[in-house]
Amino acid sequence: MIKLIYTGDITYSSSLKPLSASSSVTYIEGMANGKTIRIVIDTSTKDKKEFLINKFNSLGVKLENIDYVINTHHHYDHIENNELFKNARIITYNNYKDFEEGLSKYGIKIMEVLGHTMDSIAIIYGDYIVSGDAIPVKNNIFKNLPPKVHEDKELATESLNKIKNLRKNIITGHDGLLNIEDYADY
Ligand SMILES: [Zn+2]
Repeated sequence: MIKLIYTGDITYSSSLKPLSASSSVTYIEGMANGKTIRIVIDTSTKDKKEFLINKFNSLGVKLENIDYVINTHHHYDHIENNELFKNARIITYNNYKDFEEGLSKYGIKIMEVLGHTMDSIAIIYGDYIVSGDAIPVKNNIFKNLPPKVHEDKELATESLNKIKNLRKNIITGHDGLLNIEDYADY
Protein backbone atom coordinates (compact mmCIF):
# COMPACT_ATOMS: atom_id res chain seq x y z
CA MET A 1 0.00 0.00 0.00
CA ILE A 2 1.01 3.55 -0.66
CA LYS A 3 -0.31 6.46 1.33
CA LEU A 4 0.16 10.18 1.09
CA ILE A 5 0.93 11.23 4.66
CA TYR A 6 1.31 14.93 3.91
CA THR A 7 0.41 16.67 0.64
CA GLY A 8 3.22 19.19 0.83
CA ASP A 9 2.84 22.94 0.43
CA ILE A 10 4.53 25.88 -1.23
CA THR A 11 3.87 29.61 -1.18
CA TYR A 12 5.25 32.23 -3.54
CA SER A 13 5.95 35.94 -3.20
CA SER A 14 4.37 38.38 -5.67
CA SER A 15 7.55 38.11 -7.74
CA LEU A 16 7.03 34.34 -7.79
CA LYS A 17 10.00 33.52 -5.57
CA PRO A 18 9.25 30.56 -3.29
CA LEU A 19 8.64 31.97 0.22
CA SER A 20 8.14 28.79 2.15
CA ALA A 21 7.99 25.18 1.18
CA SER A 22 7.47 21.82 2.85
CA SER A 23 7.66 18.63 0.86
CA SER A 24 5.06 15.92 0.61
CA VAL A 25 5.59 12.80 2.70
CA THR A 26 4.67 9.36 1.36
CA TYR A 27 4.48 6.02 3.12
CA ILE A 28 4.89 2.67 1.37
CA GLU A 29 4.27 -0.68 3.02
CA GLY A 30 5.33 -3.55 0.82
CA MET A 31 5.21 -7.30 1.26
CA ALA A 32 7.26 -10.08 -0.28
CA ASN A 33 7.84 -13.66 0.88
CA GLY A 34 6.04 -12.94 4.14
CA LYS A 35 8.31 -10.03 4.95
CA THR A 36 7.07 -6.48 5.32
CA ILE A 37 9.05 -3.43 4.29
CA ARG A 38 8.18 0.07 5.51
CA ILE A 39 9.43 3.10 3.65
CA VAL A 40 8.98 6.84 4.03
CA ILE A 41 9.71 9.04 1.02
CA ASP A 42 10.78 12.56 1.96
CA THR A 43 10.28 13.90 5.46
CA SER A 44 9.32 17.57 4.92
CA THR A 45 10.25 20.39 7.32
CA LYS A 46 10.69 20.69 11.09
CA ASP A 47 7.38 22.51 11.56
CA LYS A 48 5.59 19.39 10.28
CA LYS A 49 7.16 17.14 12.92
CA GLU A 50 4.15 16.92 15.28
CA PHE A 51 1.78 16.51 12.36
CA LEU A 52 3.81 13.57 11.05
CA ILE A 53 4.09 11.91 14.46
CA ASN A 54 0.32 12.12 14.91
CA LYS A 55 -0.40 10.90 11.41
CA PHE A 56 1.82 7.81 11.66
CA ASN A 57 0.40 7.20 15.11
CA SER A 58 -3.18 7.24 13.80
CA LEU A 59 -2.16 4.75 11.11
CA GLY A 60 -0.70 2.46 13.74
CA VAL A 61 2.76 2.72 12.21
CA LYS A 62 5.59 2.92 14.70
CA LEU A 63 8.31 5.36 13.69
CA GLU A 64 11.00 2.97 14.87
CA ASN A 65 9.68 0.30 12.50
CA ILE A 66 10.42 2.31 9.37
CA ASP A 67 13.15 0.43 7.46
CA TYR A 68 14.09 3.07 4.90
CA VAL A 69 13.79 6.77 4.33
CA ILE A 70 14.23 7.69 0.68
CA ASN A 71 15.06 11.35 0.05
CA THR A 72 14.19 12.41 -3.50
CA HIS A 73 16.99 15.02 -3.34
CA HIS A 74 19.03 16.99 -0.84
CA HIS A 75 16.94 20.18 -0.43
CA TYR A 76 16.21 20.97 3.23
CA ASP A 77 12.43 21.02 2.78
CA HIS A 78 12.49 17.29 1.94
CA ILE A 79 14.75 15.97 4.69
CA GLU A 80 14.27 17.83 7.96
CA ASN A 81 12.49 15.03 9.80
CA ASN A 82 14.76 12.20 8.71
CA GLU A 83 15.89 11.72 12.31
CA LEU A 84 12.34 10.86 13.40
CA PHE A 85 12.93 7.43 11.91
CA LYS A 86 15.75 6.23 14.11
CA ASN A 87 16.18 2.74 12.68
CA ALA A 88 15.78 3.69 9.06
CA ARG A 89 18.56 3.60 6.55
CA ILE A 90 18.65 6.69 4.37
CA ILE A 91 18.56 6.17 0.61
CA THR A 92 19.56 9.00 -1.73
CA TYR A 93 20.88 9.48 -5.25
CA ASN A 94 24.34 8.75 -3.89
CA ASN A 95 23.66 5.22 -2.66
CA TYR A 96 20.39 4.04 -4.23
CA LYS A 97 22.13 1.53 -6.48
CA ASP A 98 23.11 -0.47 -3.38
CA PHE A 99 19.42 -0.94 -2.52
CA GLU A 100 17.87 -1.37 -5.97
CA GLU A 101 17.88 -5.14 -5.99
CA GLY A 102 16.45 -5.49 -2.50
CA LEU A 103 13.71 -2.95 -3.15
CA SER A 104 12.77 -4.48 -6.49
CA LYS A 105 11.62 -7.64 -4.67
CA TYR A 106 8.90 -5.46 -3.20
CA GLY A 107 8.06 -3.91 -6.57
CA ILE A 108 9.78 -0.64 -5.77
CA LYS A 109 11.86 1.02 -8.47
CA ILE A 110 14.05 4.10 -8.37
CA MET A 111 14.51 6.33 -11.40
CA GLU A 112 16.88 9.26 -11.90
CA VAL A 113 15.02 12.47 -12.72
CA LEU A 114 17.79 15.06 -12.88
CA GLY A 115 17.40 18.75 -13.60
CA HIS A 116 15.74 20.31 -10.55
CA THR A 117 18.89 19.15 -8.80
CA MET A 118 21.62 16.89 -10.07
CA ASP A 119 20.74 14.35 -7.36
CA SER A 120 17.00 13.96 -7.99
CA ILE A 121 15.37 10.54 -7.94
CA ALA A 122 11.76 9.39 -8.24
CA ILE A 123 10.22 6.25 -6.77
CA ILE A 124 7.86 4.00 -8.73
CA TYR A 125 5.46 1.68 -6.94
CA GLY A 126 2.48 0.05 -8.66
CA ASP A 127 0.41 2.70 -10.41
CA TYR A 128 2.20 5.52 -8.60
CA ILE A 129 5.32 7.58 -9.02
CA VAL A 130 6.62 9.76 -6.22
CA SER A 131 8.28 12.51 -8.23
CA GLY A 132 9.94 14.77 -5.68
CA ASP A 133 10.61 18.18 -7.19
CA ALA A 134 10.96 16.83 -10.72
CA ILE A 135 7.22 17.69 -10.55
CA PRO A 136 6.87 20.11 -7.62
CA VAL A 137 3.28 21.16 -8.41
CA LYS A 138 0.46 19.90 -10.62
CA ASN A 139 0.78 22.92 -12.90
CA ASN A 140 4.13 21.65 -14.11
CA ILE A 141 2.20 18.86 -15.80
CA PHE A 142 -0.77 20.97 -16.90
CA LYS A 143 1.45 23.70 -18.38
CA ASN A 144 4.20 21.37 -19.47
CA LEU A 145 6.79 23.43 -17.60
CA PRO A 146 9.90 22.18 -15.83
CA PRO A 147 10.26 23.20 -12.17
CA LYS A 148 10.90 26.93 -11.67
CA VAL A 149 13.89 26.10 -9.56
CA HIS A 150 16.34 24.01 -11.55
CA GLU A 151 20.02 23.43 -12.06
CA ASP A 152 19.66 22.25 -15.65
CA LYS A 153 16.57 23.24 -17.60
CA GLU A 154 17.07 20.78 -20.43
CA LEU A 155 17.43 17.83 -18.08
CA ALA A 156 14.51 19.08 -15.99
CA THR A 157 12.32 19.13 -19.11
CA GLU A 158 13.49 15.65 -20.05
CA SER A 159 12.62 14.38 -16.56
CA LEU A 160 9.19 16.02 -16.73
CA ASN A 161 8.44 14.21 -19.99
CA LYS A 162 9.86 10.95 -18.71
CA ILE A 163 7.48 11.03 -15.74
CA LYS A 164 4.50 12.17 -17.81
CA ASN A 165 5.01 9.38 -20.32
CA LEU A 166 4.87 6.72 -17.61
CA ARG A 167 1.13 7.42 -17.30
CA LYS A 168 1.00 6.86 -13.56
CA ASN A 169 -0.60 8.68 -10.66
CA ILE A 170 1.92 11.29 -9.60
CA ILE A 171 2.62 12.20 -6.00
CA THR A 172 4.12 15.66 -6.51
CA GLY A 173 6.82 17.27 -4.42
CA HIS A 174 4.59 19.99 -2.91
CA ASP A 175 1.09 19.71 -4.33
CA GLY A 176 -0.42 16.37 -3.38
CA LEU A 177 -1.60 13.61 -5.68
CA LEU A 178 -2.26 14.08 -9.39
CA ASN A 179 -4.35 11.18 -10.69
CA ILE A 180 -3.75 9.90 -14.19
CA GLU A 181 -7.38 10.70 -15.19
CA ASP A 182 -6.79 14.32 -14.23
CA TYR A 183 -3.98 14.83 -16.71
CA ALA A 184 -5.02 12.41 -19.42
CA ASP A 185 -5.51 15.30 -21.84
CA TYR A 186 -2.24 17.08 -21.08
ZN1 LIG B 1 13.80 20.81 -4.19
